[in-house]
Amino acid sequence: MSVPTSSPRHALAQEASTAPAPRPGIAALPGYSRSAGKSTVRWIASSNESAVPPSPAVQAAIAAAGAAANRYPSLAGDELVSVIAARLGLGPGQVLAGAGSLALLQLLLSTYTGPGDEVIYAWRSYEAYPILAGVAGAAVVEVPLDASARHDLDAMAAAIGPATRAVIVCSPNNPTGTTVTDAEMLQFLHRVPPHVLVILDEAYREFCLPEHDAVTLLAGFPNLAVLRTFSKAYGLAGLRAGYLAASEVVTTMLRRAALPFPLSRVAEAAAVVAWSESEGTARTVAGIVAERDYLTAQLRRRGILVPSSGGNFVWIPAGTRARELEAACLQRSVSVRAFDGDGVRVTLAGRAASTAVLAAVDALPGLTRQTPAPGAP
Ligand code: PMP
Repeated sequence: MSVPTSSPRHALAQEASTAPAPRPGIAALPGYSRSAGKSTVRWIASSNESAVPPSPAVQAAIAAAGAAANRYPSLAGDELVSVIAARLGLGPGQVLAGAGSLALLQLLLSTYTGPGDEVIYAWRSYEAYPILAGVAGAAVVEVPLDASARHDLDAMAAAIGPATRAVIVCSPNNPTGTTVTDAEMLQFLHRVPPHVLVILDEAYREFCLPEHDAVTLLAGFPNLAVLRTFSKAYGLAGLRAGYLAASEVVTTMLRRAALPFPLSRVAEAAAVVAWSESEGTARTVAGIVAERDYLTAQLRRRGILVPSSGGNFVWIPAGTRARELEAACLQRSVSVRAFDGDGVRVTLAGRAASTAVLAAVDALPGLTRQTPAPGAP
């Protein structure tokens, strides 16, 4: 039987009915920001991606996996999980792979938090935190960064209350680049009650030299989960691959809640090869760190209080002039990310891109003389 879709009766019924309602709080969630002009500029410095394309070996793995795309991938990214666990000295049960660390963060928050719970994180930090906590139904507690744009771990520990179920620490912090030291993290973990999950987001850890290893903390803190990604130093942002390391108490519960087949065949195959290319990754990282030193020094010479960054990006605390600086960069064919009223985050994308950003800074009279909000080195 055919159902008339445009009869007057149908139209009336549609008007009278209400649309399906999402869970409370969903409609009010902020959206993810979109990079201005990314498709038209010469240099993309707005999304903290790698400017280096995948190696020939990674590209060959992508092509080979694509040729078998009629078959499902492994149930849980099994090969990737086993090579990661072996190198980190963890049991395979302690590692989970996901479609980017974002997917794993969503899994963590929706497994461990919900309506009536609180999630604490520093602010300003990664824009996904309020969104994913909100999707889980939890309330958020944002603890301001300190005057040096670093996590205020004392204030974060003090904010833990009876409703707190999770705390997120982002180190290096997106967008300010500031890092939490191993000693600070250890001290913080001792202050967090064992029933509160601590999520350490280390998306940029490879750029923070000398390398430290939070994974060694897992043995002493079963409430810790460490999140990492193939999107940044490994240059696979377009394929979506990330991993999580935690105690089996946590990973067992996450497996219950996780979707099967979290990684495509192509993403898993590429990540396995990228993971094995330590020398190439170290070379890419060294190039980015050298450019970070250069851009940071040039900005500081101009009087801008740029925090020392452990990421593949630099934070310019432009305050209320953030949008103006973003526009000046776009005019010079570089896309950067402006955060209203706070500053501009510039992904390192090579010397020509840095030169264009410096020209944009120089074109804004007074930018270098203002006293920025958070961001002193
Ligand atoms: N954490 C932080 C701090 C990030 O900046 C990003 C990406 N911008 C992510 C997690 C997500 O990375 P992905 O999902 O690509 O692994």
